[in-house]
Amino acid sequence: MLIVPSAIPMEIGFECGACGHRQPYTIPTPVCEKCGHDWLDVYYDYERIRRLWPDILRQRPFTMWRYRELLPLRHDDYQISMGEGGTPLLRAKNLGMMLGTPNLFIKDERQNPTNSFKDRQAAMVISMMKEANTTELVVASTGNVAISYSAYTAHAGIKLWTFVPSLVPPEKMREIAIYGSEVVKVTATYDETKKVAARFARHKHILADKGIRNVGTREGMKTLALEIAEQLAEELGPLQPGVPWRAPDWYIQSVSGGMGPVGVDKGYQELYRMGMVDRLPKIAVVQAAGCAPMVNSYEKDLPEAEPVRHPNTQVITIATGFPGPAYSYLYRIAKERGGAFVAVSDDETFRALHVLAKMEGISMEPAAATAFAGLFKLLSKGIIKRDEIVVVNCSGHTFPVEKFLLKPDQIKEVPANLIEPTPAPQAVTPPPTEGLLGALDQLDERVRRIAIIEDNVEAARLLRRILQTRGDFQVVEAHTGKEGLKLIKTTHPDLILLDMMMPDMDGFAVLDHLKDDDALTNIPVIVVTAKELTVPEQRRLQGQIQLLLQKGSFMDDELLQNINTLLEKDKGAKS
Ligand SMILES: *Cc1c(COP(=O)(O)O)cnc(C)c1O
Ligand SMILES: [Zn+2]
Repeated sequence: MLIVPSAIPMEIGFECGACGHRQPYTIPTPVCEKCGHDWLDVYYDYERIRRLWPDILRQRPFTMWRYRELLPLRHDDYQISMGEGGTPLLRAKNLGMMLGTPNLFIKDERQNPTNSFKDRQAAMVISMMKEANTTELVVASTGNVAISYSAYTAHAGIKLWTFVPSLVPPEKMREIAIYGSEVVKVTATYDETKKVAARFARHKHILADKGIRNVGTREGMKTLALEIAEQLAEELGPLQPGVPWRAPDWYIQSVSGGMGPVGVDKGYQELYRMGMVDRLPKIAVVQAAGCAPMVNSYEKDLPEAEPVRHPNTQVITIATGFPGPAYSYLYRIAKERGGAFVAVSDDETFRALHVLAKMEGISMEPAAATAFAGLFKLLSKGIIKRDEIVVVNCSGHTFPVEKFLLKPDQIKEVPANLIEPTPAPQAVTPPPTEGLLGALDQLDERVRRIAIIEDNVEAARLLRRILQTRGDFQVVEAHTGKEGLKLIKTTHPDLILLDMMMPDMDGFAVLDHLKDDDALTNIPVIVVTAKELTVPEQRRLQGQIQLLLQKGSFMDDELLQNINTLLEKDKGAKS
């Protein structure tokens, strides 16, 4: 099975990235109780893990969850896993021969469930959200985060709103919509799209993903470092006795927000502290020349990034003009131990894409190829030495053309004229324009409220998920008959999905109460039951419910169609 049980409960805590203050680990992630900073790192019982791991790891499959003790999820019950991580570390023999680099490796992150390394982040973040009891989330993305989060939220039964800039390729938007996420296409840059998403989330009181400030993001990405260290030791043998794993001399990645390299660095810092590796790798940050705020800022020796306001690159997946706190972090470690920041043109990227496909049989998306174009440049400049151990993150796959054929229900749009111009760096965001808030309001058309009364939590989750794949339902949920009745009285749903067999008060009793209440007697009810009803029971339900469905015998679209028919009929009767 994919779920790796945590054999040993571990003590963990938070450490503030700004002031170093330590505080207990709590869910959901708080801010620093001393200085209020919102960048908290998780620390672990490193000595204990070092002692326990040799025995534990031998018994575990090669997925990112094999490093369970070094991940912050508290309870395995919440683990959302689809086989992410555990990707191959391929030795690039042909390319290595061509470039004269015998120790060139490719971490093949295309082989994750949604074909990019964002699945590490998604698995960790969504598992932690499950643990924090989150049911709905807003995320802004240049494509791959939205795809990955869509898959994992679908798996977890969490509703997802994705905001994507309109330049994201249509096949990626279709991919997002296929998972049942809401797709809001914003005619603006990614950085402006992020602001629209944040405003929508605030306005609707929905949790917004915090990106790199999210503990789960960095802890998920960290597993890349752990895997590479273990795989390199296997490939090359340990470097010295007593130090079991190996760090490469260089980790190379194409970078936008910098989640990958920051997470990887945390991983190596921890392994170094545990005595598992003998060094920390230098990190090479590669960006598209048309949107290279980190590279430009590093060249000017700025400790904080200067944004690029008008990205001009076709490699849209990494077109982040405002890099955020990741840059300062990467700047600092490059100053401490060396590293590189390099920009490549789109032409160089497309060339690298062809080289890798033809020389190694590895087809990748342009955003991944950017890293290889950076490798070529750093080798030719002599910054990377040909005998050094180099790992390049092949971060994502090209999407198959079949996706063009699949039509999602709908992609929503926010018109360009409603997006405000980007404010100057220090300026406060101006108050929201009526127009934009109005448009954001219209994105959420959940006028119909549906109550799920079901004692089996998994069954309730499935029903909720089916309803979530359409934008127009607000779902409320109760897990006992008594609670359900209370919920119906307080929320007055437009329709009820009712289970029959429940402890304390069963479905029949709930129906009897509804019948006796004038305000509730006309709400349509669909009974969803696992039990074969007897003839007297069926007779008892007559006239009280609109539809009887047997669990495990209907598909999502049938249920949705039935619900819509009943709601239409109900609307007709009322008007
Ligand atoms: C997200 C992404 C990147 C950039 O990752 P960051 O570490 O967040 O900068 C690069 N390549 C692909 C394919 C991506 O999806
Ligand atoms: Zn602090």
